[in-house]
Amino acid sequence: MAKERVDKVLSNMGFGSRKEIKEKIKKKVVTVEGEVVTDPGFKVDPEEDRIIIEGEEVFYRKYIYLMMNKPQGVVSATFDNHDQTVIDLLPFDYKAFDPAPVGRLDKDTVGLLLITNDGEMNHKLLSPRSHVDKVYYAYLEKEATEEDVKAFEKGVVLSDGYKCMPAGLEIFKEDAKEVHVTLREGKFHQVKRMFHARGNEVTYLQRVSFGPLKLDEELEEGDFRELTEEELSALI
Ligand code: URA
Repeated sequence: MAKERVDKVLSNMGFGSRKEIKEKIKKKVVTVEGEVVTDPGFKVDPEEDRIIIEGEEVFYRKYIYLMMNKPQGVVSATFDNHDQTVIDLLPFDYKAFDPAPVGRLDKDTVGLLLITNDGEMNHKLLSPRSHVDKVYYAYLEKEATEEDVKAFEKGVVLSDGYKCMPAGLEIFKEDAKEVHVTLREGKFHQVKRMFHARGNEVTYLQRVSFGPLKLDEELEEGDFRELTEEELSALI
């Protein structure tokens, strides 16, 4: 792996801001391969070199994979001029990895959002060829019907003429305003537009799964956690 400045590596790994790392280096608490580092610009190979900071060994990793329970009112972007983004919700340690959301959820949609700095994985998961099923829980203005189920199976035609791929619609027995929708594609406002085309409206939308990942019910809205090894290997 290409060599990088030790202050940058340590900052990216969450050991502090570049300024804080420089201070630590001044205090001689950083060693590389057993030698005290005095120059913050000292070049290291983070995958090969043994780096220790304040007695703690640095285990380098290139990628982070996070599951967030996206709250309402936040946009799925890395930057926005007006609104808070999902990336703004992350602590500095994670932001330093330069992550991005995998696809988008509307500002008012809540639920499972994957966030990673693994661009290749991000691209692959969004490719229509990957066939990643996404499941949404929706609360509707009016009760869903068996005709809706059939229309979803056939492929709903949206108001702009686009014919959706076949989608799953499961109506809750206790309340037909509650449904699960399974989509294989991810067009802009798709679930909302599909119901709109059926003369209904979505009043609440939550993504409950993304491929093999299920929304962790322990996560409060706005919280996130790293994917487990099992989740990650199921995804890859
Ligand atoms: N469909 C929508 O309408 N909105 C989302 O955020 C996701 C799917």
